[in-house]
Amino acid sequence: MNIVLLGAPGAGKGTQSERLVKEYGIPHISTGDILRAAVAEGTKLGKKAKGYMDAGELVPDDLIIDLMSDRLAQPDAAKGFILDGFPRTTAQAAALDAALAANGRSIDCALAIEVPFEVIIKRLSSRRVCRQCGHAGTEEETVCPSCGGEMYQRDDDREETVRNRLAVYEKSTAPLIDYYAGAGVLVRVDGNRPVDEVYADTKAAIDRD
Ligand code: AMP
Repeated sequence: MNIVLLGAPGAGKGTQSERLVKEYGIPHISTGDILRAAVAEGTKLGKKAKGYMDAGELVPDDLIIDLMSDRLAQPDAAKGFILDGFPRTTAQAAALDAALAANGRSIDCALAIEVPFEVIIKRLSSRRVCRQCGHAGTEEETVCPSCGGEMYQRDDDREETVRNRLAVYEKSTAPLIDYYAGAGVLVRVDGNRPVDEVYADTKAAIDRD
């Protein structure tokens, strides 16, 4: 099962992914997580990506496409994957389709998790994320309920940067909704509800496939 999760930053893609991993046993591949690890390790990629990330801008397509063609060639992705935060531009989506088609594969389901921007701004300003496992929680949680790691606020979750990330989403990533609708694999899910309800619809959409 090859799944793409679409949705603005803070729509709940990571939270839904955590559950999907448990249910379907396929890897969760988040470009944001891979890039943050590269920044923390100070790799060449991390050094190139950091300025864009701090500003809430997209990292250039060529860097992301190279990174993801390596990641999707790993053995654990052979039986399927959940992509979170990738693709984010139509150029990335086209490159992904081409890489999959070369192996006789394609995207089975693109889930658009939809949440009003004002709700997202509130969610992200109180979001805290685990340094170890990436679990997303709220400012009430100082210790990760999933692995015991330290919860922290991402620099790019501050309001000014969030507004820019949403503008970038609207301009560059929202067009992917039409892209995947055209491919006949798009399912829209109302993400402005309790996590369990969103997950029930998410799972139903995937199982329908
Ligand atoms: P995320 O954790 O998905 O919100 O990503 C955090 C930041 O990483 C984004 O604001 C971008 O700067 C960068 N990033 C993550 N995924 C991509 C992508 N597919 N294309 C370009 N930049 C990305």
